[in-house]
Amino acid sequence: MKSFWDKCKEELKKQVSRSHYEIWIEPVSIVSMDDDSIVLSVPNNYYIDRINKDYWDTLKDTVKNISKKDLQIKFIIKSAPPESETPNIIPKKEKRQGLRNTNTGLNLKHTFDNFVVGPCNQFAHAATKAIAEGHATYNPLFIYGGVGLGKTHLIQATGNFIVDKNDNRKILYITSENFVNELITSLQHKEMNKFRERYRKLDVLFVDDIHFIAGKERSQEEFFHTFNTIFESHKQIILSSDKYPREIPKLEERLRSRFECGLIADIQPPEFETRVAILKQKGEEHGVNIPQDVVEFIANKVKSNVRELEGYLSRIIAISNLKGREISLQLAEDSFKNIFKTREKVTSISDIQKGVAEYFNVKVIDLKSKKRERNIALPRQVAMYLSKELTNLSLEEIGKSFGGKDHSTVIHSQKKIERLSKENSEILMAIRQIKSSLEL
Ligand code: ADP
Ligand code: MG
Repeated sequence: MKSFWDKCKEELKKQVSRSHYEIWIEPVSIVSMDDDSIVLSVPNNYYIDRINKDYWDTLKDTVKNISKKDLQIKFIIKSAPPESETPNIIPKKEKRQGLRNTNTGLNLKHTFDNFVVGPCNQFAHAATKAIAEGHATYNPLFIYGGVGLGKTHLIQATGNFIVDKNDNRKILYITSENFVNELITSLQHKEMNKFRERYRKLDVLFVDDIHFIAGKERSQEEFFHTFNTIFESHKQIILSSDKYPREIPKLEERLRSRFECGLIADIQPPEFETRVAILKQKGEEHGVNIPQDVVEFIANKVKSNVRELEGYLSRIIAISNLKGREISLQLAEDSFKNIFKTREKVTSISDIQKGVAEYFNVKVIDLKSKKRERNIALPRQVAMYLSKELTNLSLEEIGKSFGGKDHSTVIHSQKKIERLSKENSEILMAIRQIKSSLEL
């Protein structure tokens, strides 16, 4: 039984980001197992909510794959007194779907009310709000910004607003990944007419993470027609992407030019004040009052990703629940110390080099070479810059890891990228994405 759960954990580790795994999966243990169910023990109720919300499908699939059976998963709370040690919450698909509107594909928890507006997202917010209220049509509205900055939240809020207003507009929210999957199924079952019909009737179509469609010929072609149909009937299309249209690799030219012909709104990483406001908002959602000094402490530590900001707050709340300690600056500092300890161990130059090479589509070996072409030199400078920022290594050591460059080359790279990242949004975006791929 234990080895079964160990195997599941191994598998989950590969699928869930490291820090989330540590917080949400590691503390879970197995209590019993029979032919149709397993019982897992978790530290408190909060874990049940969180696992239901974020890891349910992954957990269910992993248990199914490893047990080769469709086992029911039940939870008990570790510290509960023995008489209540009966499985008290059985997460069901239906319950989770309560959160999702099956007709529109929208997750009901994302609303304008719980979206914090700041200078970083003001423009995108105003554009979506105008569409939601029926004041404007921009075709398309293209929202772009780094990972975890609120694109999905904002477009789903738009959809939910329209649904709540009951204004009869037919809407559909879909990720481009699901668009591709549905297309494949429709092709297999020869149901393309039905597929097309579904999109033709819409008043507002939201396609999240549209960059996923790039490089997939048939999907791009079909989407091009879908787009045109909606566009020509003056209905609204809202797209989100982690990149500006021109920067999406392998995106067909005709789609690129269409994406750029409407309104383009970016979402930037939140400023300090916005981070503080978001943390307060999230604290309220958890029903917890987070002291100002703790809020500011977290806002100073996490700067480039709202999802991470939320993650750290949840971690602190979970630790406070677990240990029965009040949320205080001390508690926040302690939990961060642990996080940074694990970080230092794992961010190595070779991870950075791999991340940079992957992002720029170059070879690690080229980063260490003497090649001076811009398509190699720039990624190399970015890698050196990140090595200086993310590791404790000296300039000499960093230079050595890049094929024996001397320390002045490292300083030069560091300064240059620092400057470029202020002037050039492409570089800033690259740095953000690489960091997030390193889970920083
Ligand atoms: P993206 O789609 O850009 O990767 P999401 O929309 O999934 O990001 O946002 C990540 C998390 O951060 C979500 O839980 C979302 O609710 C939250 N979030 C992002 N921006 C805001 C904001 N301005 N106000 C409140 N919550 C936010
Ligand atoms: Mg998203």
